[in-house]
Amino acid sequence: MPELPEVETVAAALREHLPERQIIGVVTRCERLRRPIPIAALQNEVNAVICGVRRRAKYLLIDLDSGRTMVIHLGMSGTLRLVPENETAERHDHIDIKLDDGSVLRYRDPRRFGLVILVTPDADGQIAELGNLAPEPLSKEFSGEYLYNLSRKRTSPIKTFIMDQRRVVGVGNIYACESLFRARIRPTLKTGTLSRKRCQLLVDTIKAVLTEAIAIGGTTISDFYGVDGSEGKFALKLKVYGRSGDICPECGTSIKKITLGGRSTFYCPKCQK
Ligand SMILES: [Zn+2]
Repeated sequence: MPELPEVETVAAALREHLPERQIIGVVTRCERLRRPIPIAALQNEVNAVICGVRRRAKYLLIDLDSGRTMVIHLGMSGTLRLVPENETAERHDHIDIKLDDGSVLRYRDPRRFGLVILVTPDADGQIAELGNLAPEPLSKEFSGEYLYNLSRKRTSPIKTFIMDQRRVVGVGNIYACESLFRARIRPTLKTGTLSRKRCQLLVDTIKAVLTEAIAIGGTTISDFYGVDGSEGKFALKLKVYGRSGDICPECGTSIKKITLGGRSTFYCPKCQK
């Protein structure tokens, strides 16, 4: 599943290519993903010019000069690629947005858990359809103090807590595991017992891990490809995720795998307390 760094990588690539491009055609090859594809509304955007690309949580937002915004979520297996217009569409290529420079923004999604909708943002660019989203992990709002204050008296495991989209958006399983390892915090630790200092350390570590992952283009465990079709490289740097039985790079102890909140969780029983 694409996580926040992968989505930011796609957003960054789209920001390079899309602004000022005019939409000259829209082709849809299926009727629905997670929700119905607004086929007629998308057709209405033919001739619109793209004015910007934003990201909020794991949503890609493509702003159009019509005043509307195309909201795209990659779901479990969605990819967005820019391809030449003569490249033949394959089986799961559901939507093509044809652009005036001869390229096509192509949405592929074998499992169809993704989302493509058109919305009208408010004057501040906010999108009501996305609901009340928690702070971005790389924003100033997500601070040690914020985590400390929110977590008092909470008994849920810290890993579950930082993956809770109502607290902070976009810290997915891989990055939660890796951040906790680097901060030497055990994933099962009760959130409310974390000191102020460790809250600060964890927040700083999450920001560092995400920033690093964004810089090298995301993780790519299986389905994700960047907008140019290249794979992310962060997977090569994972120290605990997916490594049960391997030795901890810090101390040589066997990495342990447990299930926490329904998700595979990897940690070093010696380094992480
Ligand atoms: Zn260790």
